Amino acid sequence: MTAPTPLIAGNWKMNGTAASLAEAKAVADGVGGSAARVAICPPATLIAQMNWQLKGTPVLVGGQDCHAEASGAFTGDVAAEQLADAGAKLVILGHSERRAGHRETDVLVAAKTLAALRAGLEPIVCVGETLAEREAGKALAVVTGQVRGSLPAELAGKAFAVAYEPVWAIGTGLTPTTPQIEEVHRAIRATLTEMFGAEGAAPPILYGGSVKPGNAAEILHAAEVGGALVGGASLKADDFLGIIRAL
Ligand code: PEP
Repeated sequence: MTAPTPLIAGNWKMNGTAASLAEAKAVADGVGGSAARVAICPPATLIAQMNWQLKGTPVLVGGQDCHAEASGAFTGDVAAEQLADAGAKLVILGHSERRAGHRETDVLVAAKTLAALRAGLEPIVCVGETLAEREAGKALAVVTGQVRGSLPAELAGKAFAVAYEPVWAIGTGLTPTTPQIEEVHRAIRATLTEMFGAEGAAPPILYGGSVKPGNAAEILHAAEVGGALVGGASLKADDFLGIIRAL
């Protein structure tokens, strides 16, 4: 099977207002010729505007989370169907900031992943160990356990991505060594193959956690790294383009 098409996705988190859309436009203007699929996941408030602005460009728009239900009395939540209606094509699920800050479990992440499929969105499912788990020698067990628990069987044959994001690398400037990244990515690929057979070779496995223009080339060319999920460095077009061009 050929290698998955790389995906480089920017996660703007709770940053950005309409004034920030100029950065997304600058990314779209500069992205031509990239071998990667490129996406920006802004706050939900900006999805529709960004989708209009990026129409006709190769840059996709995504959400950062969704509710498992399609509609109902869930104040403040956003359904996968609503993200799709606003123009999103992908959605980040199970980010460690949601697992830790909103007590999201693997079971809930799997339910949200099903919701994304129901709405026609491509899920990017995040997994990753804490520093304490790594220091206790549990990184591989934690990550592969999250993959098994967060990915429902219904993903078979569907487009999706897994993002390996060590919690201790997010927003800290710290990154694992290349051999550490490769070890985890290989374990994720083996787990995907166990779960989905030959189709487990298809989803890209992104790395996320302090990816910057300066370290992107080494990370993006590591074995089994199929792209990146980029937080802070996706907020400025020049930095995000520097990462995209490192592929
Ligand atoms: C993230 O939150 O998904 C992330 C990777 O953040 P950063 O790039 O800022 O570490």
